[in-house]
Amino acid sequence: MKDNFLIKVPGLKPDEQKRFIFANLKDNISRLKLAGFAFLLIEVTMFVWLLLKGIINPDEPADSTLLYLYAGIIMFISFYLLVLIYVGKKARIRNMTTMRMFIMAGLMIVLIWGVFLVLFEHSGGFLPSAYILIMMSIGIIPYLSFWEIAITMIPSQLLITIYILADHSFAETLSEGILFDSWSFCIFAIIISSLFYSMRISGFKKDIALMEQNDLLKQHSEVDALTGIFNRRKLDEELENEWQRSSRSQKPLSFLLIDLDHFKSFNDTYGHVEGDLCLKKAAAIMNETLKRSTDVVFRYGGEEFAAILPFTSLDAACLVAEKLRKNIENAGIVHKHTAMGYLTVSVGVASAVGDHSASPEKLCLEADKALYAAKKSGRNKVICYDD
Ligand code: GH3
Ligand code: MG
Ligand code: MG
Repeated sequence: MKDNFLIKVPGLKPDEQKRFIFANLKDNISRLKLAGFAFLLIEVTMFVWLLLKGIINPDEPADSTLLYLYAGIIMFISFYLLVLIYVGKKARIRNMTTMRMFIMAGLMIVLIWGVFLVLFEHSGGFLPSAYILIMMSIGIIPYLSFWEIAITMIPSQLLITIYILADHSFAETLSEGILFDSWSFCIFAIIISSLFYSMRISGFKKDIALMEQNDLLKQHSEVDALTGIFNRRKLDEELENEWQRSSRSQKPLSFLLIDLDHFKSFNDTYGHVEGDLCLKKAAAIMNETLKRSTDVVFRYGGEEFAAILPFTSLDAACLVAEKLRKNIENAGIVHKHTAMGYLTVSVGVASAVGDHSASPEKLCLEADKALYAAKKSGRNKVICYDD
């Protein structure tokens, strides 16, 4: 089945259209389930009441048709409800077109049943008003777009129009009344439904704008404005997550603390603007070096960076740290106050298996100790914490 059946939703991107229609479908299923139960209850009560009161006598041929109509719709609604409950659980984006058509077809049948009810009860205005009630309910209960509701309503409307125009046994005034009422309420139902539908679209658009704003805010709260890599807040969050993950898997988690060497002198010599540029370059090199998808680099603060390497042993982490140190050195960012004449970094590495009862703070302290040792032993070094 083509999944773009009546899918144009003005003002929404294609993937948003699908999401909207799917969300709408799910709502329609729940609303129709409720309405179906209510309808069933009313119909069964009515059916029993008509029988008990003797208003319908099953022995009379004229009444037996009405009886069949009632029994038929009660069975149909029960079956439809069961299917709704079943498919409600199976509804997916990929089968939503079938589901929408199923809903429309069900509503069409209820409307056609209403028409037969009108046609078999020539005498009074009671049953036509029941048909109009059904029509209005279908305009209000499910959220249908203009075309969906129009397609749903037209068959029963055509049926009632053709039948009344062709059957001259209908009292003329009554038939005109039914035609006038049913067409005007059909148009009302279509207008009301379309209005509800467009209100839902604008509600959905507002939700999307709000979600996008939230995403942006979240992104801003996690990303360092200067370097564009994750910030300290995100580091704390991720470190905690990875620590817990490591304690579950019992696989080692490694942590790197990286500090630019003699960076104060860099600023003093080349100025803060150049200093900022240098921080950006260093961050980009580190990011590029830690390409493995689970490894992440963060700006720890000032000219200090950190990296989390999940499922990585101390030895493996030291190799990564060494590669990182080398890549910064090889970038050749001129810095006349270091031993090399280029920007260099010192790195402290620590590794541990997570522990539910402890915090990852110990890992940070050990990496910090190792970094301190790297600084002390002449900078441009990687030291792995080993107790
Ligand atoms: P060491 O090799 O021992 O790490 O020496 P250092 O000079 O790098 O360390 P120190 O902690 O004395 O100085 C860090 C300097 O980093 C101080 C500050 O000028 C600079 N810095 C920190 N944050 C920023 C920043 O956002 N932009 C710039 N341009 N400089 C920064
Ligand atoms: Mg520092
Ligand atoms: Mg430094």
